[in-house]
Amino acid sequence: MIRDSIVAAAVLLAVLSCAARGEATTPNANGPRAIDVPILVYHRVTCLMGNPTRMDERMTVAPEAFALQMQRLRDEGYTSVGLGEVRAALEGSCVLPPKPIVITFDDGWESQYSEAFPVLRRLGFHATFFVFTDAVGCPGHVTWDQVREMRSAGMEIGSHTLSHARLPGLEPWPMWKELAWSKDRIEHELDEPVEILAYPFGEWDDAVIAASERAGYREAVTTDAGVTQRADGVMRLRRTFVGFMDGPDEFADALRGRVNWEPMRAEHAPAGQAARRPG
Ligand SMILES: [Zn+2]
Repeated sequence: MIRDSIVAAAVLLAVLSCAARGEATTPNANGPRAIDVPILVYHRVTCLMGNPTRMDERMTVAPEAFALQMQRLRDEGYTSVGLGEVRAALEGSCVLPPKPIVITFDDGWESQYSEAFPVLRRLGFHATFFVFTDAVGCPGHVTWDQVREMRSAGMEIGSHTLSHARLPGLEPWPMWKELAWSKDRIEHELDEPVEILAYPFGEWDDAVIAASERAGYREAVTTDAGVTQRADGVMRLRRTFVGFMDGPDEFADALRGRVNWEPMRAEHAPAGQAARRPG
């Protein structure tokens, strides 16, 4: 218990220290226009059995593999940072530590809490969990108590919308509900502002970005591959998938922002979600 508190305090301190190092909290015109920061995206952290589809393999990492990957990051001197720090660095109000990395999780799978969270905590890593609020508390997904526990341990929580709807092409009102209602719900559950968003299926367009900004988001992540994050692209930060078939070499490629994976498409709904919400 005491050890957990110390680790949580260390994680929070690491998160806060960036803001503390900055002289200003407002954008600085002299800030860098681009920074290389890998942002990894994980989904389920569990074993795969039977005859998994290619999409299953893509959306899943075995617990043992995940632990090895995190240990590797630790051994190689990576420091986990939050998305707010990335934005602050791009605005020039914060300097990121050497070898910064953002570790993110989409969809709020229960295995993220049961398998990934203990590893992150043990190694003192900070990570960002994007939940779509309709699923929280449903079978296979995290509960609000688990979300609060992870937040209390220094993890960052963001919105992945209300129902994991494909946002481009939505009418204004349904899009507003997906963006604003999910944000309100998480803020109500956590009693703090929520300003980060992951677009479902990584899909976005100019209308989605404009609506997201109107709803109060200040950063958003895509699944466009790459590690170069740009000051004029804080609403479309790049991320790199990590999947079941990734060995050490492929993980090294992911840290470099490999671009040889096909982008996610709406018809490839995460396993379980497709059955729950056909179409
Ligand atoms: Zn998702």
